[in-house]
Amino acid sequence: MPKPTKWLPAMTEVWEPEIKIIQPGEGNAAPSDAIVLFEGKDLSKWRGPGNTTPKWLVEGGNMIVSNSEGSIWTTQEFNDFQLHIEWSTPTVIVGSGQGRGNSGILLQDRYEVQVLDSYNNRTYSNRQAGSIYKQYPPLVNAIRKPGEWNIYDIIYTAPRFKEDSSLFSAAMVTVIHNGIVIQNNVAIKGTVVNAGMPSYHAHGKAPIQLQNHRNPVRFRNIWIREL
Ligand code: MG
Repeated sequence: MPKPTKWLPAMTEVWEPEIKIIQPGEGNAAPSDAIVLFEGKDLSKWRGPGNTTPKWLVEGGNMIVSNSEGSIWTTQEFNDFQLHIEWSTPTVIVGSGQGRGNSGILLQDRYEVQVLDSYNNRTYSNRQAGSIYKQYPPLVNAIRKPGEWNIYDIIYTAPRFKEDSSLFSAAMVTVIHNGIVIQNNVAIKGTVVNAGMPSYHAHGKAPIQLQNHRNPVRFRNIWIREL
């Protein structure tokens, strides 16, 4: 807008488009515009390795990581999103460090927000619950006791790539754990890697993976909003 000789309030009022009305959920329930990925009944929004029917157990409104059945992936693919997911590590503590209640949420099948029983369970900081695996430790440890429910609210902006497939802008992520900000819009460094340094490889929309780390972690109430 060229600078007018005199500013009037109406000159900077924006009326269009009118903002869409949605219904917030009660408590942690999905709002009206969310895609519900799991509401306790079945895994119809998920697939197993190689496009198979996922075989994780569904019991008492929870899905449970199955030792022998691999990871699961959403059938739908996403770019930018807000993800709500609740998880609980086993009440009976087995193992220690990385072997205790380990799972993970892989954003776009590549960038892992760690799920781990980090209750009185010291391990290296950039791989405890709420870390961006081997990249960023959480700002604080907001874990609840084994068997209790933890909530992650994850706000994610996908990376952008140039036409020559090089990186234009990194993926950005904010993680809120039980109402506490533990990752504040950090720039993801690339695909998760256990040994070595992460790097980017151009990609488009991609699913969310829930990782099978052979610990019977439970999940419930999973919903996502595309942004
Ligand atoms: Mg993990």
